[in-house]
Amino acid sequence: MTGKNKNIAIVGAGLVGSLLSIYLAKRGYPVSLFERRGDMRKQDAGGGRSINLALSNRGIKALHEVGLADAIRKTAIPMHGRMIHPADGQLNFQPYGKEGEFINSISRSGLNIVLMDEAERLGVEIHFNQEVESVDLRSTLLKMSTVHSRQSTADSGLWTVDCGLIIGADGAYSSVRSAFQISDRFDYSQTYIEHGYKELTIPAVNQQSTVDGRPLTIHALHIWPRESFMLIALPNPDGSFTCTLFFPFEGEISFDKLKSKEDVQLFFRKYFPDVIPLMPTLEEDFLSNPTSSLVTVRCWPWVKGPQTPEGGTSLLIGDAAHGIVPFFGQGMNAGFEDCRILNDLLNQYEDDWEKALPEFQNQRKPDTDAIAQLALDNFIEMRDLVADPEFILRKKIEARLHQLFPDKWIPLYSMVTFNETIRYSEALKIGRRQKVIMDELMAKPQISENWERIDCEEIVERLE
Ligand code: FAD
Repeated sequence: MTGKNKNIAIVGAGLVGSLLSIYLAKRGYPVSLFERRGDMRKQDAGGGRSINLALSNRGIKALHEVGLADAIRKTAIPMHGRMIHPADGQLNFQPYGKEGEFINSISRSGLNIVLMDEAERLGVEIHFNQEVESVDLRSTLLKMSTVHSRQSTADSGLWTVDCGLIIGADGAYSSVRSAFQISDRFDYSQTYIEHGYKELTIPAVNQQSTVDGRPLTIHALHIWPRESFMLIALPNPDGSFTCTLFFPFEGEISFDKLKSKEDVQLFFRKYFPDVIPLMPTLEEDFLSNPTSSLVTVRCWPWVKGPQTPEGGTSLLIGDAAHGIVPFFGQGMNAGFEDCRILNDLLNQYEDDWEKALPEFQNQRKPDTDAIAQLALDNFIEMRDLVADPEFILRKKIEARLHQLFPDKWIPLYSMVTFNETIRYSEALKIGRRQKVIMDELMAKPQISENWERIDCEEIVERLE
């Protein structure tokens, strides 16, 4: 497909599908977006809850290229580091990077709305309440059903869309990918971790009732690490916080065991006592909000077709191609980076999709595999290590190495979050080498007393 006259159908008007539609509309393609949910601009998408997520440099770079970074930044709350709430002991603030480096708490629906508004402004047609039921990869046909017509027995609501290119941006449980899965030579795996998550809320009005009488700072990502599980909280512009409990589904301490208001109250009193006064509807919210699972999706290839001379091509992107657990705050950022890199390749190959698409998947697969692994590793860091004095010392030493040799020693978190020119796969590789060096250093006797006298140059040379 080289010309710009072929219709492109993107399935899923979530974050990645909406951003990609903007990139493609700007290139001059006719783009239609098909979204199974209703229009969130007309109805509440989050059941009254505000859900937020962390936007960092890779996502911002992609938004910048379509001219939206400034608008998004205006609604974002900078988070300069982690505020650790230990089980006992003092609050402890750990900066994410150097002075001036921060991640951004943004509203998921707010961001999605900005993207959809811009897509429509550029001529993208968004079809809401349209669910893809099945995909014919050979002839690039989408079989759709109108979601509200399900209740109607008279009208099945089924219709088909014929297009030159189908892009599955329909998330970790992608319907487009289901069609790939029944085609020949398609590798697929999905792996669940034993933890699920539940969202809870700290309303703005309760901000004054913290244990020490001080409100939670909004310029940090709050973590209550409890070794095998954790609670986190991200700020919202109205002063409220969206909290997420990452917790095992089963076992001695698990969702399975928290069935009544009393169970919830006892559990929070034991593990998160400082949170109880901040959550006036804790028990009700806990019992009524859903418990969701966390999955890593890996698959290959992301591109199929054309399988017949008259047929078109299909592509998976975003979570549909690489669903990851959220512990590095990179799922959306990686999906936005997908969009930017695909656009770069279309520039490079002058819109020759037959060249751009194979290059796209070959380039991105090692990087998304890397961030999938890094995200799994980071769960252990967040829920357990951040409260460990040895880990805190390790971070201090790394910050010093970075300060003295800013281009030679960049901590792993910074490479992933603040250095969008370093590929995820490169960050994983360098991070592993750094870990070996740091493990040896930390094993030295009396390192906690002597760390300020170590030979930083020698350490950095070993990395090189
Ligand atoms: P989705 O956001 O899942 O969007 C898919 C869209 O497709 C949806 O609108 C859906 O309704 C639609 N759809 C699905 N099936 C069909 C169908 N058959 N027909 C039509 N439409 C369909 N990432 C970060 O970068 N930072 C974070 O801080 C962060 N925090 C997270 C916290 C949690 C608890 C979780 C679970 C994820 C987090 N993520 C984070 C990851 C991020 O949410 C995803 O990576 C991102 O939403 C992927 O965007 P997407 O557009 O590919 O998929």
